[in-house]
Parts: sequence; structure tokens; C-alpha cells
Amino acid sequence: MLDRFAQGLPDPQAQKESPEHPVDECANDECQAWIYSGDKVWRYDGDHYCKFKCLAIAMGAVEIKAGRVGNDDHSVSKTGSQKF
Ligand SMILES: [Zn+2]
Repeated sequence: MLDRFAQGLPDPQAQKESPEHPVDECANDECQAWIYSGDKVWRYDGDHYCKFKCLAIAMGAVEIKAGRVGNDDHSVSKTGSQKF
């Protein structure tokens, strides 16, 4: 892979992405973005992820909209149901 770039073949597409050689790719199967030397990445269990969201997805985390979390705790003081 590296040789193909090192030979200087006329490949405008490769130059457009980055002049650097990719050292790895994002371990998130749905992403697989190239990771270049010097990039800030997340490493987990020997794999590299281009961003934290990719790592979270790989770990099985999902992004949801939070709501009604800890509702009971807040209602205690507001309703005044707790007597002192
Ligand atoms: Zn990624």
C-alpha cells in the first residue's frame, strides 16, 4: 500500500485526501476512516478509532435522547411531600 503512494504515480484522488500515508483505519466497521500519522485518535484494546463516537459504537454504546432521568429525586423538594 505504501509503495503505491511512494512511487509517485499520478493519482489525484489520493493526493486530495491527504499527502500523508495512512497508518491505520478506524476500527468501527461503519466508519473505516483513514488514520494518518499524527492524527488524534482513540485507542482501545489495540484498535484505533477516529473519534470517540466510533469507539462508543464499537463498545456497544448508543446515543439516545435523555429524559425523565432522576425525576423522582427532583420532585421530592418541589412538591414538598417530604416533611421535615
Ligand atoms: Zn471512525
